[in-house]
Amino acid sequence: MTCVMCKGDMEDKLTTFMVDLGNCIVIVKGVPSHVCSQCG
Ligand SMILES: [Zn+2]
Repeated sequence: MTCVMCKGDMEDKLTTFMVDLGNCIVIVKGVPSHVCSQCG
């Protein structure tokens, strides 16, 4: 899989996803996502 922006290599990474609900914040760790190794 290649990046549509820079044609760089895409890699699977575990990212931290954070949602602000107003009175509390939910943090989900280890969400798999495709991230470009060149432009992010
Ligand atoms: Zn890219």
